[in-house]
This record gives sequence, structure tokens and C-alpha cells, in this order.
Amino acid sequence: MKWEDNIRKAEPYVPGEQPQKKGIIKLNTNECPYPPSPMVEEKMHKIAYQDLRLYPEFPEKTQLNAELARYHQVKEEQIFIGVGSDDVLSMAFLAFFNSRKPILFPDITYSFYDVWAEIYRIPYERKPLDEDFGIQAADYKGENGGIVFPNPNAPTGVLMDVDAIEEIVRANEDVVVIVDEAYIDFGGISCLPLLSKYENLLVVRTFSKSRAMAGSRIGYAIGNEKLIRYLNDVKYSVNSYTMNRPALELGTEAVKDDDYFKEICGKIISTRERSKKELAALGFTFPESYGNFIFATHERVEAAEIFRKLKEHDIYVRHWNKPRIHNYLRITIGLDEEMDALFAALREILNLE
Ligand SMILES: *Cc1c(COP(=O)(O)O)cnc(C)c1O
Repeated sequence: MKWEDNIRKAEPYVPGEQPQKKGIIKLNTNECPYPPSPMVEEKMHKIAYQDLRLYPEFPEKTQLNAELARYHQVKEEQIFIGVGSDDVLSMAFLAFFNSRKPILFPDITYSFYDVWAEIYRIPYERKPLDEDFGIQAADYKGENGGIVFPNPNAPTGVLMDVDAIEEIVRANEDVVVIVDEAYIDFGGISCLPLLSKYENLLVVRTFSKSRAMAGSRIGYAIGNEKLIRYLNDVKYSVNSYTMNRPALELGTEAVKDDDYFKEICGKIISTRERSKKELAALGFTFPESYGNFIFATHERVEAAEIFRKLKEHDIYVRHWNKPRIHNYLRITIGLDEEMDALFAALREILNLE
């Protein structure tokens, strides 16, 4: 027996590239092209460096929990914060998916879900999306150990309506249903109102996309008090103080500046709608996207080839070599001028000059 036989082997999640090269156009990891709120910048200059010697506030009683509770009009005890929603989701998998029955998620979805299921040894089953990349509520009604899906879904951008989500939550009151709303701020309708009717629903949000703060690593979940207590018990069994003081302070400022938040989301939505028209004119088709990205396939040219040639133009988008989606590109919505550079490069690549 070698020492390596005793190791927990993992096949890790592969994030999009983070090229350090200057001057590239980065449309590959759904970051926000706009800076965070100016209130965040102002706060950055006022963070007390001598306070860094102290532990942060109690993790479930931070100023950020209070601000988020006020923002969503729920109790502070209904908010759970973490180091990006990846941390929140990982803790939720560990806390809530503790059955021998398989958890369910779509075959095409956020590719971290199966990674967590594997590392925590949670059995799972993938339910195929329909032809139009839609999630079918009927697929989520059999016996299972829990359910998780993003809404809008990633990387398709397809939005599910709240009635269909309610159908799933109602049919599964004996397990926890996690709805990952990473992209809900780009025009989708949130399922948060269902929280007043169902104890088994957890809604997860992130500051990484719509709040322009991927670098601060802030995510949170909202659920009923009892569910959040169970989640905190698991978190405090791993690492209690995960959020650092600057992130807590800066995140709080971001939530306070709702006008700025609405302004940048509005700009991204309008650039997205314009981009849909441009891409369609170039011969792309795509499901209707409610995210800050478009998941597009070209009528003539292979996605892998376009992906490679865009990189030669210093434009990075995302491509997966996976069944059903290998001929698609996920294009993050950037600034208007970045999108114009993308369309120009595509015209060249597709010989449409
Ligand atoms: C980006 C993303 C996340 C995680 O984002 P964090 O940066 O960890 O907050 C979670 N779920 C989906 C579907 C995402 O696209």
C-alpha cells in the first residue's frame, strides 16, 4: 500500500482562464465590466488597518447580514454569508444533502455541482434539459435526496418561471431545494417570495456578477431561520470566521448603493439585448438569455474554431468540450465597445467582411 492510496482523490472544478496579459477583452467568466459602486471605493480608503489584528464580527451577526436582511426585508437570522456563493453552496451541499437517495440537478448546468457531490460523496443524478435547454419541473418529482439548479440556468441563460419552481419546491417538501440565483438581477424574476410559504427552500446569491465584486468573494443564502441555523452549525464545524473585515465592510456599502446597482444591471441588460441582434445577424442562434452572457452556436462554423480564433484576436470567451454543448460559446456581456470589438472580430473570422 502506498500513501497515495489513502488520499481523497478529486477531479476539481475548472474555472475559466484568468489571463494576466494586458489589453485583452475578457468575456469568459461572467465578471461585471463596470467597477463596483463609488461608495465601495470611498470605503476602501477608510478601512482601519489596525482593526485587522482583530477577528471579524460574529459570522452570523455582521453588518453585512444586517444590511442584506434590510435589503430583502427578511430577518437577520434568515441570512447566511460566505466567501463567494461557491462557499455558500458547498456548505449547503454538506449540510443539506445527507441522504442515501441521489440529489438531482440538470445535465447541463453549473459544473461545480457534480464536483461538490463527488468530494462530499453525495449520490447524484443528472436530469436532461429539454431540446430548448429548459428545465422540466416534472423531472424533479421522483424520490431524491435534494435538488439544486441555477435560475437563470448556467451556462444557457434560460429562465424558469416562479410557478414552475414552486411546483418543484412543493413536490419535495421532505428535502431541501436550492435555487442558485447568481444571475437573477439581469431581468429574471426571483423565487424569494416563495420563502414565506416553504421551509425547504434555500435561495443563493452572489456579489460576483451583478454587484461587480468577484474579487471580494462574497455570496449569501436566504432561507427560513431553522434552515439557516443548520447551515451555520455546519459552517462553524469547519471554519467559523471565513469572511474578512474589508469584504464585510465593502459588501455592506455595495448593498446600500441600490441606485448604482440598478444602473449597471440596466446597462448590461441593454448591451445584452443589442448583442442578441448583432449575433443573430452574424448567423448565431441562442436560447433567450436572462444572464449577463449569451450561449450561442453558429449555423456554419464550429464553436471550437471560433473560440480559438477569437483568442488570436485577444478576445476570451468560454467553450466546453462536453456532450450537447460542444458547439456553443458562452459570451459574457462586456462594455459596449468590447462587444463591438467582438462583433468586428467575428465578422472577420466568419468571412463576412
Ligand atoms: C458564478 C457562479 C457562482 C459562484 O460565484 P461566486 O463567485 O463563488 O460567488 C455560483 N453559481 C453560478 C451558477 C455561477 O455562475
